[in-house]
Amino acid sequence: MQFSQIIEQHELINSLIRIADKKRVSHAQLFFGEEQSKPFAIALAYAQYLNCSNKIRFNENSDSLIIADSCGKCLSCNKYSKLSHPDLHLVFPNTTTKKIESKNSSELFLNEFRDFVLRKSGNILLDDWYNYLDVGNKQGTINVRDANNIIKSLSVKSYEADYKVMIIWCVDKLYYEAAPKLLKILEEPYENTLFLLITNDRENILPTILSRTQLVKIPNIKYTKVAESKYLLLFVEWLRSCFLYRTKVNDIILIIEKEIVKLGREEQKQFLKFALEVFQNSFSIKIGLNKLDNLLEHCDEKFRTNFPSFITENNIEHIYKEIEKAILHIERNGNAKMVFLDLSIRLGFLLMNK
Ligand SMILES: [Zn+2]
Repeated sequence: MQFSQIIEQHELINSLIRIADKKRVSHAQLFFGEEQSKPFAIALAYAQYLNCSNKIRFNENSDSLIIADSCGKCLSCNKYSKLSHPDLHLVFPNTTTKKIESKNSSELFLNEFRDFVLRKSGNILLDDWYNYLDVGNKQGTINVRDANNIIKSLSVKSYEADYKVMIIWCVDKLYYEAAPKLLKILEEPYENTLFLLITNDRENILPTILSRTQLVKIPNIKYTKVAESKYLLLFVEWLRSCFLYRTKVNDIILIIEKEIVKLGREEQKQFLKFALEVFQNSFSIKIGLNKLDNLLEHCDEKFRTNFPSFITENNIEHIYKEIEKAILHIERNGNAKMVFLDLSIRLGFLLMNK
């Protein structure tokens, strides 16, 4: 997973990159934030970045929102993209299932977990994971066997990577008997070993673990219901006008002047991020990756049915790039009217020439 695949959170990502560049990566970090704010995806992309042998830097004049990224092509990135790197260890809540009736551990569910993460492009939620495993009402834990496996895998010398990485997802689900073992490892760090712990529930983490990890606060990107419905209405109205960019450019200008300019810079950025989400969401639904949540659920049926047909494998990347460019220009105090007009015409073109 590359940073560029996470179409949000570039401020946080850039700060992680800067810390890595200064070689100040702390050996145990706690990524804390709402599940919807993509903490797992960020941690995974961060681990891939740290181990990439051919990191990409974007200079100031580039249109990238992020300052650097992993290459996505080197041997390490290749293995990371399949979650099959021998120095990447994944630990997550698990329980007994029809298939694994006893002595369950993360290790035994690794194939399922990889498949789940890849299907969700790293944006994983605990309830979805339990549904995926089909465990009914059972709740998972990170158990003593998991803790023992962590110790076992760390005692093996790293195969090939700069950093051996241990990602522990939902560390708040750590079973109390397993906690002392984890604590001991965090106290006596192994060389070049990085612990990325992830949680949305800091209250349920032992203070002793909290005190041994550096906190990485993940900003909330979940929109409030009010903002979401406001942005959704505006998005539909704006996109409809974009489709008619050839003949009715005045309609676009009218919407920009009446609705978008008055939002102010921060909200314009929020709105553009929301637009990115809608494009990503509609595309993933269209190609069958996501069957759960449709951001267009509450808009009119005609738009909901027709809109996805204009997003294709040919134009989706260009669409992301154009919206990200607009966010950057708004951030750099570009004239909002010009930025949005330019974006509208480009989006109209890309959608009509899918
Ligand atoms: Zn690479």
